Amino acid sequence: MRRPLKKKTVNCSKRLGLSYPLSILPPKMAKLLLADNCQGQIHLVVGLEHLSLCFARIKSILEVGATPVLVSPQKTTLLNSLQDLRTQGTLEVVDQTFNISHLTQLGRDEVDNVVDKVFVVLDSQYGQLKKDISDQCKKLRIPVSVVDSPELCSFTLLSTYANADFQLGVTTNGKGCKLASRIKRELVSTLPSNIDKVCENIGNLRHRIQQEDKDQLQEIYNRLQLLGEDEDDAVQTFRLNQLVEEFNMTKEQKKLQRTRWLSQLVEYYPLGKLAEVSVDDLSAAYRESSSKAENAQNGILNPAKKGSISLVGAGPGAVSLLTLGALSEIYSADLILADKLVPTQVLDLIPRGTEVFIARKFPGNAEAAQQELLSKGLAALDAGKKVIRLKQGDPYIFGRGGEEYLFFKSHGYKPLVLPGITSALAAPVLSQIPATHRDVADQVLICTGTGRRGALPNIPEFVKSRTSVFLMALHRIVELLPVLFEKGWDPKVPAAIVERASCPDQRVIRTTLENVGLAVQEFGSRPPGLLVVGYSCGIIEKLEKKWEVVEGWDDIGGSTILDTVSHLSK
Ligand code: SAH
Repeated sequence: MRRPLKKKTVNCSKRLGLSYPLSILPPKMAKLLLADNCQGQIHLVVGLEHLSLCFARIKSILEVGATPVLVSPQKTTLLNSLQDLRTQGTLEVVDQTFNISHLTQLGRDEVDNVVDKVFVVLDSQYGQLKKDISDQCKKLRIPVSVVDSPELCSFTLLSTYANADFQLGVTTNGKGCKLASRIKRELVSTLPSNIDKVCENIGNLRHRIQQEDKDQLQEIYNRLQLLGEDEDDAVQTFRLNQLVEEFNMTKEQKKLQRTRWLSQLVEYYPLGKLAEVSVDDLSAAYRESSSKAENAQNGILNPAKKGSISLVGAGPGAVSLLTLGALSEIYSADLILADKLVPTQVLDLIPRGTEVFIARKFPGNAEAAQQELLSKGLAALDAGKKVIRLKQGDPYIFGRGGEEYLFFKSHGYKPLVLPGITSALAAPVLSQIPATHRDVADQVLICTGTGRRGALPNIPEFVKSRTSVFLMALHRIVELLPVLFEKGWDPKVPAAIVERASCPDQRVIRTTLENVGLAVQEFGSRPPGLLVVGYSCGIIEKLEKKWEVVEGWDDIGGSTILDTVSHLSK
């Protein structure tokens, strides 16, 4: 017996960023988007007048490795271009009036001669023929596309962009192909121009690491294959971002380090830079960092003290949330030491000639990567450079800013420290949570879900009138929640998971504390993210369901700010 489908509780109108209720303009059911492997298939094109359209279709059939067969129902003069393809033997032309039996005669032997796909390129005067072809295709389960007749199509083509292995497809679900094409162009313009190299490099690295670490990974892949070869990104991210205790790693975890690091690089690094990552970067990170750190600690580097250093808060991500001081430091630096949390929007502001080093802090390597970063900074300072240590959010909120200050000071370089907007305070604002609110919340607590050396932290008391913000907590939420409840936290208190706050892919999941663990499992993780807990979460947005997901954030006048910035930099 069929079970009734479960109703999704995601609030669609908000998720899609619509400002009107969905009932006025109900969206069509979403389509399943596929990357269809057409290699070796036979695609039938039924065409008559629109031969240039037929030619475009035939070209794209050839591009995906299928064989086009053109049936022209009446004697027609073929375009030269089509004639050329026919002469080369890449296009078969069936010079007959179309017959429905062609559908089951012109295909490959191994599928009983049923053609694999049908493209009908006929105009409105052939209404009946188009309908007959469509009906018959649907009966025979042959995917069919009929030009200008969406009701007769079993699939539609996307507006696509391809650059080697990278492919992008856009559909507006029939709302307009011109619009889809425009959206595609805009999306493409935001991609780094070396996106092909990015895919190639990451693919090669994955392959190489998988080969080299095969034995260790075998067990995990067996598990992955049970789930389907390419595990859902969100699930994978969730898994790979689970806590690794650096000082307590099992042998297996150590061997898996490179896979984790690669996964984190893909998650955090500016896209364009992924084309340059090498397997040595992953393998050598630990070795290099330990010896460099030792050298730095032992004072082997040039003792001449000339350069200058500042610890600068970069804010949570959006350009509009960067301070003018931070911007000015970014423009005047010789070397910028950033970390993976500093998002692309901010890194993109760094002038082209400025050297940038992004800390290689990945699970199980944080300590060594920190030492590597410090010794890089010290070497540059000794060489008389202006070094900017760019830190996500505010440098003194869980960013080891104090330690870094003391390190550089002990080596004779007293840093200038510039505050930044901390994610802990920006995230609530960006998710409609007033952290303090009369009669509801009279205090704010910023705390962590991860204690020293990966242990559980001190768990704060539950205070009804407090908004608590937990950083570095989502990856271990399942472990953390029972401890909170044991300490008397109210399971029904409103809560919000805020991820990538102020970035274009910001996501807010509003729920109650008891459902936070389930929500992380259901939606996966999109790091970095934090948890806000307190009755203030229910002041502006009232939760009427188990949870509610709101996607996206547009930087206020993001492009205007960038224009101003580029104007200032001239
Ligand atoms: N100094 C930083 C915090 C560093 S600790 C600040 O003031 O914001 C790193 C943690 O900060 C992450 O694990 C995450 O919990 C949180 N975080 C940083 N940036 C974030 C963002 N844009 N959105 C949500 N959480 C963020």
